[in-house]
This record gives sequence, C-alpha cells and structure tokens, in this order.
Amino acid sequence: DTGLMWFRRDLRAHDNAALYQALKSCRQVHCVFVFDRAILDPLPRRDRRVEFIRESLVELDATLRALSPQGQGGLIVLHEDAATAIPALAARLGAQAVFANRDDEKPALARDGEVARALSADGRTLHGFKDHVVFERDELLTQGGKPYTVFTPYKKSWLAKVDAFYLRAYPVETYAAALAPRPMPGGVPSLAELGFGTTNLSQLELPAGTAGGRKLFADFEARMARYDEARDFPAVRGPSYLGVHLRFGTLSIRELAAAGHARAQRGDAGASTWLSELIWRDFYMQVLANFPHVADETGWGGNFRPEYDRIAWEQGPQADALFQAWCEGRTGYPLVDAAMAQLLATGYMHNRLRMVVASFLSKDLGLDWRLGERFFALHLNDYELASNNGGWQWASSSGCDAQPYFRIFNPVSQSLKFDPEGRFILRYLPQLAGLKGDALHAPWTARPLDLAAAGVELGKDYPRPIVMHDEARDRTLARYAVVKKPA
Ligand code: FAD
Repeated sequence: DTGLMWFRRDLRAHDNAALYQALKSCRQVHCVFVFDRAILDPLPRRDRRVEFIRESLVELDATLRALSPQGQGGLIVLHEDAATAIPALAARLGAQAVFANRDDEKPALARDGEVARALSADGRTLHGFKDHVVFERDELLTQGGKPYTVFTPYKKSWLAKVDAFYLRAYPVETYAAALAPRPMPGGVPSLAELGFGTTNLSQLELPAGTAGGRKLFADFEARMARYDEARDFPAVRGPSYLGVHLRFGTLSIRELAAAGHARAQRGDAGASTWLSELIWRDFYMQVLANFPHVADETGWGGNFRPEYDRIAWEQGPQADALFQAWCEGRTGYPLVDAAMAQLLATGYMHNRLRMVVASFLSKDLGLDWRLGERFFALHLNDYELASNNGGWQWASSSGCDAQPYFRIFNPVSQSLKFDPEGRFILRYLPQLAGLKGDALHAPWTARPLDLAAAGVELGKDYPRPIVMHDEARDRTLARYAVVKKPA
C-alpha cells in the first residue's frame, strides 16, 4: 500500500519518527511539504524563517532523492492551503495513510483535525507521531497523576525516566527502499515564486538544513563544557544558536539530548546545564499541551494564572508610543535597546536579554506581555509558541513556575552584571563608545561634561530614558497588587 509523509517542522531525512513509521509500514511512500498559505499569507514579505525553510527543503529534497531507489524519489512541494491540499494529494496518489509528526500548537491542532476528518471521510487515515520533544503531553505526570507546573520536579522526573530507548534514533535508512519515485515534476519554488523577498539570512552565521545544524552543533560541542559559565553574557559566544534548527527539525531533539545527556553523565557541568535547557523546552511544550488556555485559538497568550487577568495594563496613545519605542530599541536603556537591535538585525536575541526586555516591557513600561509575545513571534528565527509563551509568562509573572511579581529586574544592574564592559552594547550602539563605566549603562546619569567629551547629546544621538526605573517599579507593584488573593 501507499503512504504519504507530510513534513512540517521536522525537515530532516534522518531520525524522523513519522518518516520511519511510514517507510516501515508502507510498500511505497511519497513525501510532501506544503508552504501553507494559511501561515504564509499574513506574514510580511521578508521573513528569514521562510528563507531558512526554503533552503532546508532544497537539502531535504536532495537527501530524499539520494536515499531513494535509483535516485528517483524526492519531495513534492506545494504552495496551497495545507488543510485542503493534503487530502487532495492523498487521493490523487492513492495513499491510504498520511504520516506526520505531532504539533501541539492550537492552529496546527485545528488544521490537523480538519485534515484527519477530510481523510477519514474518504476512507483514509492521518497518523501522528511524537518527534518534536523527548517527552510529550501526559508522558510525565506527578505522583498525583497531574501535569507538572514546577520545573525542578519535572526535570527530576524527566531525568529519571530518560534512557536509551527514548533517545534512540529512528533508523530511517533501513527502509529507504520504500521511498517512491516522485510522481510529478518537483523542485522547491524560489522565494520570489512564494511571493517573498530575500533577507540578510546569508550574512548571518546561521546555515540552514541538517548540514547547517550539524556545523553549528560541532562548533558548540567544542564549547559545551563552558556553557554554564558563558551562557549569561551576551557579548560571549556561549549558547548553541540551535533554536531555529530545533524549531524546524533540521536536527533531531533526540540526537542533541543524547549528546548532552551522555556528557552530563560523565560529569560535564556545561553539558548538564545545557541539557536542562532542552528539558525546559520539553517542559513548556507539555504546559502548552496540558494547559491549552495559555494560548487562544490563534495561538496568542492567555495568563496561566487566572488572577493575572485582573491586571490593568497601560493603554492609549502614550502606551502605544512606549511600545513603539520598545520595538524600535529607543527606550534610553542601552542594554534593552542593543537587545532589540540584535533582534531586528539578526532574528536572534540572547536568552538573558530576552528576559531583560520582557521584564522591561511588562514591569517598566506596564504593557501587556502579549504585545511583546506577538512582536517576538514575528521576529524570532527560533520562534516556538510554547517556549515564547512560557518565557513571556515567566518574565511577566503570570506563568507557572514564573518569576514572582515583586521580583523586578533592574535594567541597569542587569547591564552592569552581564555586560560589564559594554561590549555587547557597543556592538549595536557604537555612538555610545565614548562613555565610560556606569555612564555607558545609564547615559542619563553621566555628567554633562562627560557626555560632551563622548560626543553624545541625549535626545539627539541617543534617547533619554522613556521611564525612570524606580518610579516604574512602584507603579508595577501597585498594578500587580490585584493578583494577591483577598485576605
Ligand atoms: P541554548 O542556550 O543553546 O539552548 C539550547 C536549546 O534549549 C534552545 O535552542 C532551546 O530549544 C532550548 N531552550 C533554552 N532555553 C530555553 C527556555 N528558557 N525555554 C525553553 N526552551 C529553551 N526559545 C525558543 O526556542 N523559542 C522562542 O520563541 C523563545 N522565546 C523566548 C521568549 C522569552 C521572553 C524568553 C525569556 C525566552 C524565550 N526562549 C525561546 C528561550 C531561550 O531564550 C531560547 O531558547 C534561547 O535563547 C535560544 O538560543 P540558543 O539556541 O542559542 O539556546
């Protein structure tokens, strides 16, 4: 019988659960990727992720062809509404079953539900597989049988359960003979054919595809032992930069977790901390799956803790102006502004800075965290609904296992602590290069003489602060007081 492998966020031909199951259980398997109009049409016409996906598909197509008998296989690539295109394609190819890896984001669940219904009306089946995480949905529960809402016990139970079985790669190659010849002319459409323009992706150190992911991982493996010490300093090449590869599945979470786990077991402290971050990823994925109210039907946030619905965020023209300044990196706080500049220029933002700018938005500007969530969703290369939502709810204190609301990051202290020499700041705000010491982290505190010597005129070369942190802090404590339970 015939199967159809539907690639989505798993753009690799190795260690892929759905692909393996399809090849193992069907006599011949066709492979398809759909540039889904429902996702692409609303996007701005330049998007690094569309370019990253396109490049990764060129590689995937070539790899599938090379694996297939006589090199006749390859990827069918469509640019349509996936919800209708997949059932139509399955019918055209006479595929009794469609194989895909599960995606627990609400819009994806709705789409998959629609596809499953259309297929079954036609006597066909959609099979879903766990692939994007090590443990999903209700695989790890507390002793009371409930989903975890606190990370530390979750991590403990993750580490207790994980073993070679869960981290083992699916040997796709074993059954590659079932890859069917491509039934129609193929080829990956160009960006222009998809209606998109090119971005600066090729200038970033972010090679696409499995080969790109492996290159980044090899570079990181040489630094992994120092991850625990280096990861908090945005000027340092500390983290792996693999988020986007995990998001689009060009690398498998199992191969990365297996590598981290093996080193952690040998006592490598850097690997152990890095593995923890991969576990945070699983943690937030299960939060999204088990507490679907953290996102609405379209995928935008809802407070994990309902008492946070009572908070009155700033609104109106002044709030809009504050938000605009945050988006454009014009807050007058150099670390915040440099972080936003990094996001706009590269689509990446260092984890420490994500925490700083998210806290600044909700606790210094008093703006609804969902505004920031959406902005990140549009700009982050590694945008992942579950992790982004979890990160924003952590910073705004509305989430499970979040920062308590009265813990408010001081953006200047964060700057002094994590970018002490201002090396990161100056990468994005070179106009501040003449400022020394604390003044670089808080230019409005500099003496007029020093500002003049540095050639910095506040309000012209660099903005004055749009809020004063101490005043904002008091307003935030008052604003958040409504979340306290009535006595
Ligand atoms: P590394 O430090 O090398 O970590 C390796 C991998 O572990 C990451 O690629 C990621 O998959 C996972 N990871 C690391 N930290 C976390 C975390 N706190 N929560 C969940 N997974 C984690 N991560 C995303 O992948 N997508 C997002 O959209 C996203 N939005 C965020 C928004 C906010 C406000 C905050 C505070 C954090 C967010 N994170 C997000 C988590 C984290 O900042 C990024 O995963 C990390 O910075 C990506 O860089 P890296 O690949 O070099 O990470």
